[in-house]
Amino acid sequence: MNQPIRTAISIRENDSTNKIDEIEDRVICAICSDARFVRVTEDLTDPKFGKVEPCICSLYEDEQTRKTRLQRYSQLGPLKNRSFKNIDRTGRLIQPNDQKRYCEAVELIEHFAEYPVGWLVITGAHGVGKSHLAAAIVNKLIDKGEPGLFVNVADFLDELRSTYDDENDYQYDDIIEKYKEAPLLVIDDLGGYSATNWAEEKLIQIVTHRFNSEAATIFTCRDITFDTESRIMTKLLDPGISQVINLGVGSTSLLTTTGAMESDEIEQFQFDNFDPKARGLKGEYRKNLEGVLQLAKHWSQNPEGWLVFLGGNGCGKTHLAAAITGHRISQGENVAFANVPDLLDDFRSTFNNSSTSNFEVKFRKMKDVSLLVLDDMGAQSSSSWAEEKLYQLVNYRHLKKIPTIITTNCKLGDIQPRIASRLADIQISTVYEITAPDYRIGGTKII
Ligand SMILES: [Zn+2]
Repeated sequence: MNQPIRTAISIRENDSTNKIDEIEDRVICAICSDARFVRVTEDLTDPKFGKVEPCICSLYEDEQTRKTRLQRYSQLGPLKNRSFKNIDRTGRLIQPNDQKRYCEAVELIEHFAEYPVGWLVITGAHGVGKSHLAAAIVNKLIDKGEPGLFVNVADFLDELRSTYDDENDYQYDDIIEKYKEAPLLVIDDLGGYSATNWAEEKLIQIVTHRFNSEAATIFTCRDITFDTESRIMTKLLDPGISQVINLGVGSTSLLTTTGAMESDEIEQFQFDNFDPKARGLKGEYRKNLEGVLQLAKHWSQNPEGWLVFLGGNGCGKTHLAAAITGHRISQGENVAFANVPDLLDDFRSTFNNSSTSNFEVKFRKMKDVSLLVLDDMGAQSSSSWAEEKLYQLVNYRHLKKIPTIITTNCKLGDIQPRIASRLADIQISTVYEITAPDYRIGGTKII
C-alpha cells in the first residue's frame, strides 16, 4: 500500500506567492499539503460544495512528475497497467450477442471515463473485468493529468484497522478524509468484505459524503441487491446520481467453489499481484518464490499432471493456486476450487443428511472436472467416511492423470500414506516446497 497522501483541506487563496516559492524549494505545499488539489468551498450550502480543483502548486509540475505523482496517489498497484486498450472487448464470451452487449457496456464505461460526472456502478460476475475497467478509468484520468483514487473495500477496512494500534486519531481521520475528498474514487469489490456493523458504518461515512457532494465515484460489485435495509445499496440505485452498467454473467459458471473462498475472492489473487520482490525477501527465499511463480505460470498455460505446493501458512501457495484457477477460467476451462477441511465437512454433512443423490452429483463433478484445486490438504487420518471419500477422489484423478493442484502446509510424511504416495508420484506430480516465510505478517493480504 502506498503512503496515504493527505487530501486538500484548505481553501485556495489568491495571495499565495510565497507559498509557491516554497514549492520550488521542494517544501510541502502549505495550501494543499501536496495533495495538489483543493476544495472549492467548505460552505455546505454552496452548490460547489464537495468539488475540487487543482492546487496552484500543480501548475509548476512537468508532465512526467505529475504522472508519477498521480500514479502513486492512485493506489492502483498491480492494476496500474490496466487500460481500455488492453481489455478484451468480447468479454471472452462465446455467444455473438453476449459479446456485442459486453462491448457496448465497455463503450459506456469508456464514455464515463471521458466525462466522469456522478456515480457509475459496474456489476457483473467473477472474472468479467470489473476491476480492470474501473482501473482503466483511473489510468485514463492519469493520462489527462487528473487524479483518481482506487481502493478495494477489504483493503480500505484493513487500512482503517491498522490505525488502531497507533493510538493517533489524526491518522484515522486522514484516511477517512482521503477517501471523502478524492476528486474521483473507485470503490472496488463492494460486498467483498465481511459485513460487520463497524465496516458498514465506515463505508457509509464515505459513501454518504460523496453522495451529498455528488463526487465522481465508481463502484464495482457482483450484483446490486434491492435490499432497502442497506443504506449503501439504496444510494447506488438512486437514478439522480447513479448509472448502473452490468457486464453480465461472464465466466462464473466455469468455477465451482467449496468453502473458504468465494469466486470473487479467488479473482483477487493473480500472477500480477504475486510479487516476490515486494516481500522484501533476499537470497534463497527470493529465488525460491521466483521459481514457484515461474512454475505456476508455466503450468497454467497447459496444465498436465499434478502440481503440489508444500509450504507454511501464508507462503503464497493458495495465491498461486487461485491465480492458476483464474487463468484457466479465462481460457474457458471448468475449474473446481475446494478448501479441503471445508470439503470434508461438506462430505460429512451430506452423509448425515442422507441426501446421497446430491452427494453423488457433486462428487462425480469433482472427480471429472478438468481442473481441481484441493487447497489446504491437512494431516487427516483415514478413519472416517468423509476421508475415505477424499481418498477415492484423489485416487481416481491419479489413475486418470487429470490435472489437479494440491496445496498443503504439512510435510508429505504427515499426510495419510495412501494420499501422500500419490502426491509424490514423479510420473504425474511436480512437487514444489515454498520456503518463504509468512507473507501476511507484514500486514499484506496475500495467502
Ligand atoms: Zn498545493
